[in-house]
Amino acid sequence: MELSGWARYPRFDSTLFAPATKAEVLAIEQKLAHYIARGNGRSYGDAAIGSRASISMLGLNRFGAFDPETHLLTVEAGVLLADVIATYLPKGYFPPVVPGTKFATIGGMIAADVHGKNHYRVGSFGNHVQSLHLALPSGEVVFCSKEENRDLFDATIGGMGLTGTILDATFPLINVPSGWIQEETIVAPNLEAALDLLSNHTEAAYSSAWIDCLSTGKSLGRSLVHLGEHARPIVVEELKPGADLFPQPSVDTLTLPLEFPSFTLNRLSVAAFNALQYRKGALTAGVPLLKGIDTFFCPLDGLIEWNRIYGKRGFIQHQSLIPNEKAPTVLAEILRRFAVRGNASFLASLKKLGPASSGLLSFPSPGYTLSLDLSIDRGLFEFLDEIDALVIKAGGRIYLAKDARQSPQTLVAGYPGLERFRAIRAKVDPDSLLTSRMSERLGL
Ligand SMILES: Cc1cc2nc3c(=O)[nH]c(=O)nc-3n(C[C@H](O)[C@H](O)[C@H](O)COP(=O)(O)OP(=O)(O)OC[C@H]3O[C@@H](n4cnc5c(N)ncnc54)[C@H](O)[C@@H]3O)c2cc1C
Repeated sequence: MELSGWARYPRFDSTLFAPATKAEVLAIEQKLAHYIARGNGRSYGDAAIGSRASISMLGLNRFGAFDPETHLLTVEAGVLLADVIATYLPKGYFPPVVPGTKFATIGGMIAADVHGKNHYRVGSFGNHVQSLHLALPSGEVVFCSKEENRDLFDATIGGMGLTGTILDATFPLINVPSGWIQEETIVAPNLEAALDLLSNHTEAAYSSAWIDCLSTGKSLGRSLVHLGEHARPIVVEELKPGADLFPQPSVDTLTLPLEFPSFTLNRLSVAAFNALQYRKGALTAGVPLLKGIDTFFCPLDGLIEWNRIYGKRGFIQHQSLIPNEKAPTVLAEILRRFAVRGNASFLASLKKLGPASSGLLSFPSPGYTLSLDLSIDRGLFEFLDEIDALVIKAGGRIYLAKDARQSPQTLVAGYPGLERFRAIRAKVDPDSLLTSRMSERLGL
C-alpha cells in the first residue's frame, strides 16, 4: 500500500504488516528484508516507510505493570501516548515528556527521542527510558538499559528504528497536582526579545513561542511566548471555580472535510492570520489562563487531519537546531529569508533546548529549535538546502523526525554521533535488513 508520513510527502509503496503480539512481530520479521517498524506515522517525512515492508506496531498496545513506589510504567511499544495520558492523568500521573502530538506511540517517541516544551529542564523522552526490549533482525530479543547493552541502548534512542524493533519500554511518570496547566503569555516584539524571554524563564516548567515567520524589519521574529505550570488545586479553583481537578482529556473534535486548495495558505492569508494571532495574544498577555492538557501541549490534535490543508502535494516541516551563541544572528538570517520567500505557514514555533541525551542520533542539544511548515512549491528544496547550509555553519542540525529532504552531507555534518551509530548498526544488522526510505536517502 502507499504510505507517507504526517506531511504526506513523500509517498511510497510498502507492504504493511500488522502483528498483534510480540511473537507475531518476530515471526513476520524473520521472513523479511528491507523493513522498518512503524508507529502511528506522526513523523513528517520518510522515516516510517520501510523500503519494502513496514511493521505497524499499533497492535502491540497492551499496558504492563505500574509501580506506585517508583512510578515506573511498562507498556508495549505500540501504546499511544494519548492512552497513557487518558489512563494515568485521572490518577494524578503524567508523562515526563510530551511532544506536540499525543498520537505518537511510545516506540516512535523513543526511536525519534522526542522533546517537549520542557527539554531545557528534563531533557528528551529517551533520558527517562529505563529499559526496553529490542527485536534484532537476527530474531534475537535483547534487553537494553543504561546498565545492560548500553551501546545498543544509546543507538536505539533516536535511532529511527534502524537498530531493531522496540517491543516494549519502561519509563517513569511524574506526579501532577491537577490535569490543568496554568499558562501565561508574554509578548515578544522581535526575535531578540523572544530568545531573551525563553532563556530568562527556565524556572517555568514549560515554555515555547509561537513565532510570526512573515514579520520583517524591526518586528522580525515577533512572538508570543507561552509559559506553563501544572496548576495547583487552589489555582484551578481560583481560575475555574467548581472545575473538575482531573477532567478527562478531550478527544476528537473537528475533522477537516476536504483537501484545501493551496491558495488558502498564500502569503496574504497567512500574514493576515499571523497579525490577528499576534494581536489576540497581546490581549491575553500577562493574564494567567487555565488550559487543558490537550490545548496546551497538543493544540493541533484537536483539528483531525489538519495535515490535509496543504493539499494533495503535502508539505515539508523544516526543524533546525541552532546552538545558543549563534542563535540571535543565525535565526535572524533564517527568519529573514523565510519572510522574503513568504511561503511558510502560520505554524511556526521556537523552543529552548537543554543538554543532549545519550542517544547517538538524538536531535536536541543546547540551543534553540525553530520549526516551520512550508507548502511544497517550485524551488523550495533548493531554498531549504541554503537554509541547511546556514544551520550547519552555525554548528546545528536538522531533526530526522521531521525530515524528508536533507542531504547525506547535511546529516553527516550535523550529527557527530553518526559514525558510532553506524558501527553499532553494522554489528546488529550486518546485512542491512532494516531499511527505511529515510535510511536509503541518507545512507544511514
Ligand atoms: C502535530 C505534531 C507535533 C509534533 N511535535 C513534536 C514535538 O514537539 N517534539 C518532537 O520531538 N516531535 C514532535 N513530533 C514528531 C513526533 O513526535 C515523532 O515523529 C514521533 O516519532 C512520532 O511517533 P510515531 O509513533 O507516529 O512514529 P512513526 O512516525 O510511525 O515512526 C517514527 C520513527 O520511529 C520508528 N519507530 C516507530 N515505532 C518503532 C518501534 N516500535 N521500534 C523501533 N522503531 C520504531 C520508525 O521506524 C520511524 O523511524 C510531532 C508530530 C506531529 C504530527
